[in-house]
Amino acid sequence: MRTRKIPLRKCVACQEMMPKKELIRIVRSPSGEVSIDLTGKKSGRGAYLCGKVDCFRLAKKTKALDRALKHPVGADIYDQLEREFIAVEDEFLAGKEREADDE
Ligand SMILES: [Zn+2]
Repeated sequence: MRTRKIPLRKCVACQEMMPKKELIRIVRSPSGEVSIDLTGKKSGRGAYLCGKVDCFRLAKKTKALDRALKHPVGADIYDQLEREFIAVEDEFLAGKEREADDE
């Protein structure tokens, strides 16, 4: 028997360690485009945030994404990501509930 390790990642806003699937990944592609990556498979430098818009707002306020992505993220990009984040939050939470129902 092999113990299965749950991969943990740190939310860049509240600094909490969480299982990877509880977090939403933000990725900066090699071409410099910052986007939300629900699949976790996009290439580029990633940063993780709890699936809560509160945490996104905190990251925006503290510019946590700038540091995590090692690149300045413009205010307009934060605004755009915030809208996307709100849109995917429901989908993300619904996905987690579906998983819970399976158990
Ligand atoms: Zn967080």
